[in-house]
Amino acid sequence: MEGTKRKDYISWDEYFMGVAMLSGMRSKDPNTQVGACIVSPEHKILSMGYNGFPTGCSDDEFPWTREGEDNKYFYTTHSELNAILNYRGGSLEGAVIYVTLFPCNECAKAIIQSGIRELVYDSDKYETTPSVVASKRMLKAAGILVRRYEHTGRRVEVQL
Ligand SMILES: [Zn+2]
Repeated sequence: MEGTKRKDYISWDEYFMGVAMLSGMRSKDPNTQVGACIVSPEHKILSMGYNGFPTGCSDDEFPWTREGEDNKYFYTTHSELNAILNYRGGSLEGAVIYVTLFPCNECAKAIIQSGIRELVYDSDKYETTPSVVASKRMLKAAGILVRRYEHTGRRVEVQL
């Protein structure tokens, strides 16, 4: 009916996880693309990030390989840390972070220390690794609210 508000608008969770997913699509990593989106308690997007090399470290010159003496693990910054560091507005106290993959232990430290109070994650495919086990232990000890994103099955298409 005209004058009645739309009913099929996307939810806050769909919106912010969708933005995190879209952000991950910027990653040049051939194996893992992860995106993060940080949101204020008032549902305003504060920052976004994806996994990649630090500023000035060329995607074409630094290695994307996972093995060997010189590999990507020396250089890549994870999406969560990038999102935290990209924020120049002051404190992230009370914020919520949406991530497409459960954070590693290093990112968990950054999340805790930044003042973020809630974590919403999608994939947890590395849950048995020591890094993710340690991450969960720290997040729990720090009292961070951790919940898994619930897929709605909604498909969103944008023409770019
Ligand atoms: Zn990480």
